[in-house]
Amino acid sequence: MKIVESIHEMRDIAERTRIDGKIIGFVPTMGCLHEGHLSLMRKAREEVDLLIISIFVNPAQFAQGEDYDRYPRDLDEDIRKASEIGADIIFYPGKEKIYPDNYHTVVIVEKITNKLCGVSRPSFFRGVATVVTKLFNIVRPHKAYFGEKDYQQLVVIRKMVKDLNMDIKIIGIPIIRESNGLAMSSRNLYLTDRERASALSLSRSLNRAKEMVDSGERAAERIISEMKSIIESGRFTEIDYIAVCDPEEFEDVDKIKERVLIALAVRIGKTRLIDNCIVEVK
Ligand code: AMP
Repeated sequence: MKIVESIHEMRDIAERTRIDGKIIGFVPTMGCLHEGHLSLMRKAREEVDLLIISIFVNPAQFAQGEDYDRYPRDLDEDIRKASEIGADIIFYPGKEKIYPDNYHTVVIVEKITNKLCGVSRPSFFRGVATVVTKLFNIVRPHKAYFGEKDYQQLVVIRKMVKDLNMDIKIIGIPIIRESNGLAMSSRNLYLTDRERASALSLSRSLNRAKEMVDSGERAAERIISEMKSIIESGRFTEIDYIAVCDPEEFEDVDKIKERVLIALAVRIGKTRLIDNCIVEVK
């Protein structure tokens, strides 16, 4: 496995791989790799000739006062895990290369980025869409893999790729959870033991929501209220949002008639966690 820090070298490798007629798969990450990331990489490994992962903690998707500086970083462990999966290249560019001093361009996906996480993090998706576009232009993948853990992000990337006619297949991968239900996230490392125990209420509330729909409940309001009481019964919790919405445009749904996304963001102490599930009406 090769570590590539230079944009020029990365583009060269991508160009040669394409000329050879080989398929490039890409898994963008912010590092501190866990089983969630590794499941994307394993899936990609099965499907492509050259597997490139990127590790870049993207300053453009963190607002002032968010956790950019203290975001967990562990390159040595990441290298070990990625090479165990059989990744071919870790692209590790560093922020001065991605955003030089005279950098002025952004990519904005409208409308769907104003909902859910976009309300409390108004510049987040602009940062994500911009960096993913740049990484796509450098790595030039045929296929790119994103987790359903960040469901809105996956939909935003799909929309951007379609709207901007990017010739890349976007593949969504199911959420990987700890055995206790907690969705894996690099930010789980911030949690104290007591906060971690409280954080279990997120997946518990989603399971309860699913159960309610399965047993015939159709009123989003009653589902949200039940989820709220489960989450608020835990300590250190502050709900950012709980939404029952359509999974494409994220418009709120009052009465559940078809497939819906149930999504939430909750602060546990200082740590903001997200989770979601798709619920089908049987
Ligand atoms: P991040 O490093 O947090 O930016 O995540 C990189 C990619 O891994 C994104 O596509 C995430 O959606 C995905 N990912 C993170 N956590 C999980 C998880 N628990 N299950 C599945 N995918 C995940």
